[in-house]
Amino acid sequence: MSESARRREIARADRVLPGVWRLRLPLPWPGVPHVNAWALAAGSGVVLVDTGLGGPGGIKQLELAMSQAGFQVEHVRLVVCTHAHSDHYGLAGTILDVAGCELWMHPNHQHFTKRAADPEGMLQRRIEVARQSGVPEEALRRYQSSQRGGDLGVDRIALPDRDLLPGVEIQTDLGVWQVYETPGHAPSHVCLHQPDRDILISGDHLLGRVSLYYDYGYTPDPAGEFLSSLDVVDRLGARLCLSGHGRPFRDVHGHLEANRREVAERMGRVRAALEEGPKTPFEIVPTLMQTEDLTPMLVNWGLSETLCYLRHFELGDAARKIDGEEPERWALVEGARAA
Ligand SMILES: [Zn+2]
Ligand SMILES: [Zn+2]
Repeated sequence: MSESARRREIARADRVLPGVWRLRLPLPWPGVPHVNAWALAAGSGVVLVDTGLGGPGGIKQLELAMSQAGFQVEHVRLVVCTHAHSDHYGLAGTILDVAGCELWMHPNHQHFTKRAADPEGMLQRRIEVARQSGVPEEALRRYQSSQRGGDLGVDRIALPDRDLLPGVEIQTDLGVWQVYETPGHAPSHVCLHQPDRDILISGDHLLGRVSLYYDYGYTPDPAGEFLSSLDVVDRLGARLCLSGHGRPFRDVHGHLEANRREVAERMGRVRAALEEGPKTPFEIVPTLMQTEDLTPMLVNWGLSETLCYLRHFELGDAARKIDGEEPERWALVEGARAA
């Protein structure tokens, strides 16, 4: 999207409850027009949950939204990130510099912070995974040039002052928020729960519209971890969800169920592709994404997702990598049903 198109989306603040503001911050990404940061009143200032995207103009958008809620960035007493993705964490460093406050985030943030510290090294690693997965050389070159020099959307790498783990409590005027680890979308993902009011801050773990994305390559079974994290949130019985994108919603259980159905459906597509015979991960992507028209971005997303499901099947002894083949090919295990 062009810079002028980006400017047309303007940040704004909506008060969703007394002491809770949704800061809607624009994103320059196709199909994802904005990200939510949540300003929670806390004494004379606010706790800010998530930050918006870093890079040019990012802090201005946050300032604009905060001013509509009656605050300045200086009033941030604490930054809490639901996970280390650029749209939720990118401005953290700048806010800390302006407000002199702490950052609390889950300690498994290397999936982002390491990549941001060595983008070229991480790009090479991704290219290698893609090559192993059967992506043709021509597509690899296109992907490499589309990624190189891309803005990561982070002002500076700020490391957490405190590890955001279960047992940590976040004090606000609305009450105390508790921390639940919800890996899957990202290894560093947590949800926050306010038990007296049954409110969940869900980050990207649970959105109003199902949108599956897993960070592949950092944990053993991202798809399985995501499913377990849905159960963790379901047990909380929250009745209002403040999500990382889109409007707040109330039917939390219904949204969790929709995610389970979508994962099952998409795992089913990968299984169906393998039922035709052994395939490279890349050969499975069109079946998963239901299109032959694969842009570099779709290949990137679809390949990570495919690899996550294959890994999940492998751990359940439902599929296996065929020994000694390069690029790798996968087959269903005889007599097993991929769950
Ligand atoms: Zn995310
Ligand atoms: Zn996000």
